Amino acid sequence: MIPFIPQLPHMEFIAKNVAELSPSLTLSITSQAKALKKQGVDVLNFAAGEPDFNTPAHITAAAIKALHDHQTRYTESAGLLELREALAAKFDVDNGIKYDPSQIIVNCGAKHSCYNAILAVCNPGDEVIIPAPYWTSYPEMVRLVGASPVVVETTAVSGWKLTPEQFEEAMTPLTRMIILNSPNNPTGAVYTKEELEKLAEIAIGEGIVILSDEIYEKLVYGENKHISIASISEEIFEHTITVNGFSKAYAMTGWRLGYTAAPKAIANAIDTIQSHTTSNPTTFAQYGAIAALNGDQQVVADMRDEFNVRREFMLDRLNKIKNIRVVEPQGAFYFLVDIEPIGIKSVNFAEKLLSKQKVAVVPGIAFGSDYSIRFSYATSLDVINSGMDRFEEFCNQH
Ligand code: PMP
Ligand code: GLU
Repeated sequence: MIPFIPQLPHMEFIAKNVAELSPSLTLSITSQAKALKKQGVDVLNFAAGEPDFNTPAHITAAAIKALHDHQTRYTESAGLLELREALAAKFDVDNGIKYDPSQIIVNCGAKHSCYNAILAVCNPGDEVIIPAPYWTSYPEMVRLVGASPVVVETTAVSGWKLTPEQFEEAMTPLTRMIILNSPNNPTGAVYTKEELEKLAEIAIGEGIVILSDEIYEKLVYGENKHISIASISEEIFEHTITVNGFSKAYAMTGWRLGYTAAPKAIANAIDTIQSHTTSNPTTFAQYGAIAALNGDQQVVADMRDEFNVRREFMLDRLNKIKNIRVVEPQGAFYFLVDIEPIGIKSVNFAEKLLSKQKVAVVPGIAFGSDYSIRFSYATSLDVINSGMDRFEEFCNQH
């Protein structure tokens, strides 16, 4: 299942840190599952890390209108001022952070936001602390800029959250940044204000930058609340780059719109990088984003509620399956299932599950957790029900 990368001629032309990079497993497995489905194979796809909902109609209509109005030219490289003003208002209301529009840069997806932020801050040789399980792209992005990922494994006991002690232990004189992702992909962990505060105190004490990836902020369940670490104090604000985007909250994955918000010097650096690399994100897509922010937010709540129904249903099913363990996810739309009792490592397990039961999942190795697999529940209840039947049968046989 891991894509086979042939030793092509002319590999000597590829830069060393790029040649060593592996392609994104989350993306490649999703496209493999889609390709099998197209061939008529009855695959149940739990690999995709994207909402299965359509983009709400008023957002699409605004982008179409922008096209008809000939909004097809460059904007400021940081994005339309009107969009950045709407984002500043969103940060104030939703997150309790006061960003000036000049501190907000709109990027081509939150993946691009993360990469720009790492590029703006990290020098070759610097270390970046990444709690595992982590979103698959963070370590690769860090390597791409010549810095070193320092992966710290969290445990199910701590709810898959980095403890202050672990953070302190991982710190060295080379530490430049820590990447926090709450709500978390793939574990669904949501950090509390107190937990964030303790981690932030350490970061401030050591003068390191916090990259806070908050792309799943709208998808939190039960009593949990999303807290933006930059909102906690002025000092933390000064050390934080907040990343967010439109993909998950508004079902806009293909629109490629994310954003970074940071103290002015970092925002300027990100803008400069962007001005020389991608320029502005697609102009008419930005008009869709303005409509998303200014429109009725009920659409977001409705999608969240639907995810929650699926989450509860799937949790119930998973809890009844023998030989696996699962921690209830508090946010995002994934289950990280512990397969250690079965004793098969993640790639092998995912391959067997796909070939025998036609169930596509992402092997935990993509997230630095080789005895686990990730199910996304961004799919219908019917698919979840049949998928759990097949998964249960598979686990009973192993
Ligand atoms: N961060 C996390 C944790 C994610 O899961 C994703 C999903 N792709 C992203 C960032 C990037 O999102 P996008 O580029 O689609 O905005
Ligand atoms: N973030 C999603 C995932 O983890 C989408 C794929 C990607 O961008 O990596 O599956």
